[in-house]
Amino acid sequence: MVGGAFVFCYRRRSVATYWIGAVEIVAQKVVRKQLPGKLQPRPFHYKFSASRSAALYCGQRSMAPLAAEYGTPLYVYSADHILDRLQLFQSSLAERDHLICYAVKANSALALLQMLARRGAGFDIVSGGELERVRAAAPDALNRVVFSGAGKTADEIDLALEAGIFSFHVESEAELEVLAGRAARLRRKARFSLRVNPDIFAETHPYISTGMSEHKFGIPIAQARRIYRAARSHRWLTAHGVSVHIGSQISSAEPFGAAMTRVAGLVRELRKDGISLPCVDAGGGLGIDYERASGFDPAAVAEAYLRSIEQALEGLNVRLVLEPGRFLVAQAGALLTRVLYVKKNGRKTFVITDAGMNDLIRPALYQAWHEIVPVQRRSGRAVTVDVVGPVCESGDFFARDRSMPPVRPGDLVAILDAGAYGMAQSSNYNSRPRPAEIFVQDRKARLIRRREEMADLLAPEIELM
Ligand SMILES: *Cc1c(COP(=O)(O)O)cnc(C)c1O
Repeated sequence: MVGGAFVFCYRRRSVATYWIGAVEIVAQKVVRKQLPGKLQPRPFHYKFSASRSAALYCGQRSMAPLAAEYGTPLYVYSADHILDRLQLFQSSLAERDHLICYAVKANSALALLQMLARRGAGFDIVSGGELERVRAAAPDALNRVVFSGAGKTADEIDLALEAGIFSFHVESEAELEVLAGRAARLRRKARFSLRVNPDIFAETHPYISTGMSEHKFGIPIAQARRIYRAARSHRWLTAHGVSVHIGSQISSAEPFGAAMTRVAGLVRELRKDGISLPCVDAGGGLGIDYERASGFDPAAVAEAYLRSIEQALEGLNVRLVLEPGRFLVAQAGALLTRVLYVKKNGRKTFVITDAGMNDLIRPALYQAWHEIVPVQRRSGRAVTVDVVGPVCESGDFFARDRSMPPVRPGDLVAILDAGAYGMAQSSNYNSRPRPAEIFVQDRKARLIRRREEMADLLAPEIELM
């Protein structure tokens, strides 16, 4: 928003957030006028019938029939919404040379990668497995892949060299040495960026903050110049850019601008040395409003974010690479689950669902807050409940002491904003098959991953006598 000062509350709604919310709404109106299309802030919404009962929809599809057709737990994604978000970035950057490399780790479904590749997106990968996903979904996009991660193996590096990826994001001098060696062996030039650590504090959960010197990621920015200079003499290395990624779920534009300012300084210094980097990669990390505290407008948020990055790069004629993950897919997805039991233990009421922490671990791992809504609203007073799964861990919860409309066994509830780091972080813990996933596009729903069966779980195992 105006001045790059969008803020949405990380923990709880505060008076300040409401106030900022009001400012936001005004700013949104300004920005919205300049942006094309039918941008909906959220794809999941209630529709009211003649009898005034409310049913939850994903785009134009009612959620309850989806549960009947595909079973629960079920990940439901609005494909339209994801494309809208991509379009938001692409149209805002239309005037500039850019490449949007979707961060595959946020949600690595093949159908999703395929859809994004068709719209011209590249990919940010962090493993050989993710490289193979891109190859399977969109082989034409391999030359739009950037490879991040602090622990690339020689085998993974070879795979990526052979695939002819866009750039390696090198996170240590030792890795650069390995990359140089592998490139020489395969006689293939390796384009690289140093992932620099700008020592910027970004207010987010400590597990997803990455841009400070105490974190394992990147190379201290003060050392970068020396390393670029040393790499110049290597025949099989081409310095192709510089990259940063300061963390995830960052709710203000300011730290991105601060990091980019430091990066721009480095690019200028290197030019004095005769090293001209064609690309600058600003990483990912733009957050969403899980808490729904204020008038979050994705267009205004993206606009403020991009403006603060572009401001820092002013005068540098470089290609801008971005690696958004969460911002593109989080709000497009919900985990649809059925209530199995409602029980009281002492003063507490537990709503036990057929989805568990193995399906969506964010609340257990990061104390993340997800909005949870009934698919069919019942009348009656709100009740304070814990929404929990069936997994044998006390950490298996989706919400604690949450005030919710009343639900009964058999009811469906949707855990919202689960499109990023949901299915991607799922596991088979407690020998639970992973959920199915579907895409909703226009009026159509399509299965993009079938529900796992017991046979899938047992397949890799070997029984001994
Ligand atoms: C995780 C990650 C991203 C994406 O982060 P989001 O918060 O999902 O946007 C981008 N780049 C790198 C290097 C990452 O590790």
